[in-house]
Amino acid sequence: AVSRRLEPGRLVIASHNDGKVREIRPLVAPFGIEPVSAEELGLPEPVETGTSFFANSELKARSAADLSDLPALADDSGICVEALDGAPGVYTADWAETPAGRDWLLAMTKVEEALAAKGPAASRAAAFVCVLTVAWPDGETRAFEGRVDGHLVWPPRGDRGFGYDPVFVPAGHDQTFGEMDPDHKHRISHRARAFAKLKAELLD
Ligand code: IMP
Repeated sequence: AVSRRLEPGRLVIASHNDGKVREIRPLVAPFGIEPVSAEELGLPEPVETGTSFFANSELKARSAADLSDLPALADDSGICVEALDGAPGVYTADWAETPAGRDWLLAMTKVEEALAAKGPAASRAAAFVCVLTVAWPDGETRAFEGRVDGHLVWPPRGDRGFGYDPVFVPAGHDQTFGEMDPDHKHRISHRARAFAKLKAELLD
């Protein structure tokens, strides 16, 4: 494949999720990149019809690049619970849907109930997975996957993160992502690991 770079200039963050946009902005800012969110540009949120993190990440990046005529960076991520055969996985956000919007406590409760239904001996192992995809208006794309292993705790702890952060303890740590100093989370997270690969190929 032709080698690609992310050049200084505007880059669309193809997400309507404030938590993700907040985490991605400071990652790209040091490279002379001016992040602008899909929401700021008034871009629609494409329907995530894919069945893998790669497919949904590419679909979001492609849609934003085509509509904005700018390079676009998308994040598709979720939590995969071993005893639930990887669920909720790509449906992580769907488990939070209610008629009144997304409810993360409800989503975490559903995961806990599904796990409880497996019995007390079920493994609490889980992993956060993130696929970052860059799409360019000329049709090129590059995708990078990051993962952090850990386990689920109940009840939820900490309010410093977003989504499922309060129930996830990364391996080798005692605090949940919701309790941890955000700078610390950002050094070890699935998103940080995917970004390290992206940076090595497209920015360094
Ligand atoms: P999607 O990628 O927009 O389909 O949504 C993935 C969902 O996974 C997010 O809305 C979050 O709830 C959850 N998620 C992804 N990354 C994180 C994270 O770093 N912390 C907590 N939850 C996350």
